[in-house]
Amino acid sequence: MQPLTNRSKQVDRSPMTFSEKLYLPSIAKGMAITFSHLFKKRPTIQYPEQTRPFSQVFRGLHVLNRDEEGRERCTACGLCAVACPAEAITMEAAERQDGEENLYREEKYAAKYEINMLRCIFCGLCEEACPKDAIYLSETFAPANFNRQGFIYNKQELLIPNPVTEKEAYEKAAGGRVRKPVNE
Ligand code: SF4
Ligand code: SF4
Repeated sequence: MQPLTNRSKQVDRSPMTFSEKLYLPSIAKGMAITFSHLFKKRPTIQYPEQTRPFSQVFRGLHVLNRDEEGRERCTACGLCAVACPAEAITMEAAERQDGEENLYREEKYAAKYEINMLRCIFCGLCEEACPKDAIYLSETFAPANFNRQGFIYNKQELLIPNPVTEKEAYEKAAGGRVRKPVNE
C-alpha cells in the first residue's frame, strides 16, 4: 500500500545478537542517561519556600485600585462587565453623598462589585476596558477553596489597601504592578 507520509520506519526483525540477548549494554546505556541527569540543573523548585518569577504579562487575581489619596477609583460604569466574555463581573452603582469625597473619587461608585473566579478566564479585557484604571490583574493566584461560594470575590476582597492609612499593606499588595494613570 502506498504510504500517506514518508515518516514510516522499517522495523528490524533480524534475530537478536548475543550482546542484545544479555540486555546488559542496554541497561548500562539507560543507567548512563539517568546518571547524566544528576549533573543537570534541577527543573523542580521547592515551593512555597522558593517561587518562580512570573512573566511580565502574567495575569492573576483582580485588584480594585485606589488613587493616591486612597479613594476608590471605580465609578461603576459597567464597561468591564460589558467587555468580559465570561460574564463574570456584576456590580451595583450608588451615588456619592456629601462628605464621602474622601472615599470615592467619582460622583458614582460601586456599592457592590463581584467577580466570579470560576467563570473568569483571566483574559485581562476588564483591565483594558476600564477608563479609570480602577481594575488590574495582579501577580497573585486565586487561592484554593472547598466551596463554590468562596470563588465569588466581593468588593472588600478585591479592593487594594488604602495607600494613605495602610501604606505597608498597600505596597505589598501593589507589588509594582499598578499602572500609573495616563490621563491625569
Ligand atoms: S479577566 Fe477576562 S474573564 Fe476575567 S473578569 Fe476580566 S474580562 Fe472577565
Ligand atoms: S472597574 Fe473600571 S470599567 Fe469596571 S465599572 Fe469600575 S470604572 Fe467602570
